[in-house]
Amino acid sequence: MTRKECYNICLENKQSLLSRQIAARESALSRLEENNPRFAEIKRLMSTLGAKIAITAISGDRGKLKDMEKTLFELSKEKKEIIKSAGIEEIKYDCEKCRDTGYYGGKVCDCIKTAATKFYITELSKIAPVESCRFETFDLSFYPDTETEGGNPKKRMTAIFKLCKEYTIKFNPLSSESLLFTGNTGLGKTHLSLAIAYELLLKGYNVIYGSAYNMFAKMESEHFGEHSDKAYLEAVDCDLLIIDDLGGEFVSPYIQSLVYNIVNTRLLARKPTIINTNLSMAEINRIYTPRVASRLLGEYNAKRFLGNDIRQQKSAAR
Ligand SMILES: [Zn+2]
Repeated sequence: MTRKECYNICLENKQSLLSRQIAARESALSRLEENNPRFAEIKRLMSTLGAKIAITAISGDRGKLKDMEKTLFELSKEKKEIIKSAGIEEIKYDCEKCRDTGYYGGKVCDCIKTAATKFYITELSKIAPVESCRFETFDLSFYPDTETEGGNPKKRMTAIFKLCKEYTIKFNPLSSESLLFTGNTGLGKTHLSLAIAYELLLKGYNVIYGSAYNMFAKMESEHFGEHSDKAYLEAVDCDLLIIDDLGGEFVSPYIQSLVYNIVNTRLLARKPTIINTNLSMAEINRIYTPRVASRLLGEYNAKRFLGNDIRQQKSAAR
């Protein structure tokens, strides 16, 4: 589900909740009118008086007008009391700003944006551990502070962690750089990219996250099955696209061109993408063709994750 679809669902939910509340109140009021003669009378009197006030206002008889307005005020007070004692409550709005219409000042209200973000994060948490993979839960103590062939894991990962946090703070959907996270399984690539996704979703950006396997399978089945490219167009268009585990899917010539088109189209539009992969550049070159590898090599900021598999360390510690 896309963020836009979440938006529409939240807007529809809010509006239908409001219409149901209004309809329930209206029907309670008409039942009251049937069963309470005084209430029915007040309604009639108020409506006649309203028309008379309009006419008197034109004639300019101020004294008469004042008396009528006083009567109208008293009738309205009595009406309210009858409604109250019948247990019919005023409509309670969740959002006083838009009075639950979902729109404020001609724009979608902030309450809908907040609800859509929550909804989207809940949807995302069904396919990825977005609730547990936050910056606050990223534990640098798992990375050894020793020199290895690739460098010092602790130092490298501290720098990458800092880069990711700054990335979310300074994020700009039209100028932020694209990132390529490489390295073995279990070193935190998914964790950090989900942490970025979460922070940017909270800020209201349209982030699409998915595993290469699921994302490309959906695009392929839409393209050949339904002759639509909905998922592809959304992926190309969103503020930040995160493709997790590139290389975890079966790579057909169609997938090769799909990956190239996504990477290239987003680069041309200066839209940032984050790609996670266990593959080396040589493998990317071989599997996804040299033109994909050259785009990633030339245009992405590549970061190699170091250390020992954290999932294994965690399960060994149990
Ligand atoms: Zn609102």
